[in-house]
Amino acid sequence: MRKNEQKPFQSPYTHKKSGKIWLPKNYINFSKEKNRFILIIPQEFVTIEWNKNESCGFMENKNLIDLEAMSVEQLAKIVKKAKKIMQSPADYRHACDGKILATLFYEPSTRTQMSFQTAMLKLGGRTIGFDNPMNSSVSKGENLKDTISVISGYADIIAIRHPTEGTAMAASLYSEVPLINCGDGGHLHPTQTLTDIVTLSCEKGRLDHLKIGVCGDLLNGRTVHSLIKTLAKYEGNSFVLVSTPELCVPLYIIDILEKNGCAYEISNSLADAVTDLDVLYMTRIQRERFKSEEDYQAQKNVFVLDREKLDRAPQDMIILHPLPRVNEITVDIDDDPRALYFKQAQYGMFGRMALILLLLQDEDFLIPARETQVCDLRCNNPKCITRHEAYLPNLSYEKLGMRMCEYCDKRID
Ligand SMILES: [Zn+2]
Repeated sequence: MRKNEQKPFQSPYTHKKSGKIWLPKNYINFSKEKNRFILIIPQEFVTIEWNKNESCGFMENKNLIDLEAMSVEQLAKIVKKAKKIMQSPADYRHACDGKILATLFYEPSTRTQMSFQTAMLKLGGRTIGFDNPMNSSVSKGENLKDTISVISGYADIIAIRHPTEGTAMAASLYSEVPLINCGDGGHLHPTQTLTDIVTLSCEKGRLDHLKIGVCGDLLNGRTVHSLIKTLAKYEGNSFVLVSTPELCVPLYIIDILEKNGCAYEISNSLADAVTDLDVLYMTRIQRERFKSEEDYQAQKNVFVLDREKLDRAPQDMIILHPLPRVNEITVDIDDDPRALYFKQAQYGMFGRMALILLLLQDEDFLIPARETQVCDLRCNNPKCITRHEAYLPNLSYEKLGMRMCEYCDKRID
């Protein structure tokens, strides 16, 4: 690699309509000099001037940060591939021979990490990584950029989980290999929704015209928000939102339902809601999100799916749960054929196998990125990764006339 050599820049990603230069996000790096990006193209190093008020024009990439970026066609492609793998797993046993998946888990999530590891092993690949940053260089104070720069030189694909919002997006700026968000704080967890989508498609045969009941902590449950946002893209889906007034869905979710023309009801009775559903999606009351133990105790056992309530439900309704369960579904229901939450976890593994394959092997499987700008304002969300990693550039995008943080999706102006 030749360093800092000036040469006229020719990108293979010039946008056809605008003539602007577009680049996959993981080819870009940011210099300290104002208004100047260093673009890292394989085999060469190019510096070009860039007006910082202009769009950076990141067009598409191989990183799964937010499932919302994916089109309905891309989701269908993942589901189709997952089904093919389920039908003939032997055909895929060597699909990723010689490839390495790195699982970087800065907070423990045994289930998600094992699901990814198993997915890669079943494809013939191998895995490296950590589930406790205290056992890695991170404990010596290594920043995210350095960790990702090193690991992306070892691995062919990275799966990352971190307690801080926007970390996966930040990591993707410095990764030279595809990167998958396995959860960034309370922000996003796209592969859980992928799991739900694969399960629904396999068990109900469709992703549209479903009546879905969601129950539990609808305020803090990111899996519920992501599922509703994704299913709202499909025609004819309707929702029954079952929660206490304290834990009802945030207003922006209601806005999305209304914008997409989805019918919805707000209910405070699981027993009533359950009588007329295709899908019941139960969630745990998230103890760690409450200010006091007293507040948690007041909410924890309000909605419990038990045998008596399930007897009122249609025979073809399916029960899903992102797990772990606390006590919102009684154990005696586990043997009911409608209880699919353990099978759902297995579908998740197949969904992850499909995702890994498409990201590594399908050149056309590119995930569209937002049009991003470098801005002067720093995000002031205390949970945002930009508050912890000072070198990160201030990146933002526009939504309804407002400037939003590219990392954590909170408003910054
Ligand atoms: Zn932010």
